Amino acid sequence: MRVTTAFNKMLGLVGASVASVTFAPEGIVVGLRRRRAKHRCPCGWTTWAIYDRSVRRWRHLDLGAAKCLLEAEICRIRCRRCGRVRTEEVPWARPGARHSRDFQDVVAWLAQRVDKTTIATLLRVSWEAVAKIVTDVVAEAIDDARLEGLVRIGVDEVSYRKGYRFLTVVADHDRGGAVVWVAEGRDQRVLEAFYDELGVERTGRLEAISLDMAKAYKSATDAKAAHVSQCVDPFHVVKLANEAVDKARRWAWRQERRLRPPPAPTIGRPRNDAPPRPRDEVRFVKHTRWALLKDPEDLLESQVAVLDELRRRRSVLYRCWQLKEGLRDLYRVRPAHAAEHLAWWLSWACRCRIPAFVTLAKTVRANRERILAAIELGLSNSKLEGLNSKIRLINHRGYGHHSASALMAMIHLCCGGVTVELPTGRPLPVGT
Ligand SMILES: [Zn+2]
Repeated sequence: MRVTTAFNKMLGLVGASVASVTFAPEGIVVGLRRRRAKHRCPCGWTTWAIYDRSVRRWRHLDLGAAKCLLEAEICRIRCRRCGRVRTEEVPWARPGARHSRDFQDVVAWLAQRVDKTTIATLLRVSWEAVAKIVTDVVAEAIDDARLEGLVRIGVDEVSYRKGYRFLTVVADHDRGGAVVWVAEGRDQRVLEAFYDELGVERTGRLEAISLDMAKAYKSATDAKAAHVSQCVDPFHVVKLANEAVDKARRWAWRQERRLRPPPAPTIGRPRNDAPPRPRDEVRFVKHTRWALLKDPEDLLESQVAVLDELRRRRSVLYRCWQLKEGLRDLYRVRPAHAAEHLAWWLSWACRCRIPAFVTLAKTVRANRERILAAIELGLSNSKLEGLNSKIRLINHRGYGHHSASALMAMIHLCCGGVTVELPTGRPLPVGT
């Protein structure tokens, strides 16, 4: 078998055949001959006429230990439809890319699963190249139909760059919480831009939207989609309750620290007749955190003991825990009883004399209708809840530290239901 035939079968490129193979210091250079004679603009317009031509190389998947580079002549054409000179499209690479389609697909597939350093080391590419490839692949793979047929959506903000920058994420409840839209910022204008992009007709078909208790998204929805029923999803209500408990705990901890200085550290083993050391109360209060915040079903034995201790002491923290669980019961009682339960909880919370919970009661009261609407419509953000942590994970894996656009592409890639086909799925020709 000739070398070119072997490479043809091995690479299995679509729309081109191997014309030459050279072993250069930078890797194996595979010269390609195109099957199609007509030149095609990325917009789809085709022509025979060329403007000028040059030779370009694309990095392809490694062959064993060697890098593999595809080399071919590429033309610029004067596109009548675009009205300017553009570089033609080739079948083995995306427009403007310096890596082959197969290479980019492998990078994108890995980006959905592993961190950036792993990809950069395994495939010998720079971090910047990984980010660029992800953006390219998403730009092509993103489904323009994702904004069609939206009925129930959820909006949430996610933070990145250590909580200093924000993105607004819109997800589709009816498609398992798939992300349909992402933009920078979290103010009213950002969500208004989403409604503008959706257009009057598609916005008119929306029925429900779940959001947080902040003003920005509410004002945007009031202004652009007043007919949509707004729901405050359980996730945000429970989150606020947890924050109130934690605020109270920190207050209690500061009180303890002021009242009782921590016991002096002892040196060496205590004598047998020494009085038992008093318990470090400051530490105890500090370490009640998880006992107070965790789901009662998930508590460890030691954490149950902590709660018991707080109950026995009639600690204010125990009352906080009761108030928090009381609010969470709103989502455990039958939907028909929810309004009654919420009224009971509000009257309890606003008279509890714990500042954090009095404030929470005010917020909950102001959002009463929207909280009950979520229960009535059965809009649970359980899928969106995971989104926040998933995005934090993406950020942690090294994507999107540098630019919002890279992070946004990664969110579409990992949470938007984008499927990447690996080149290994393609059947290879058999025979000799
Ligand atoms: Zn064109």
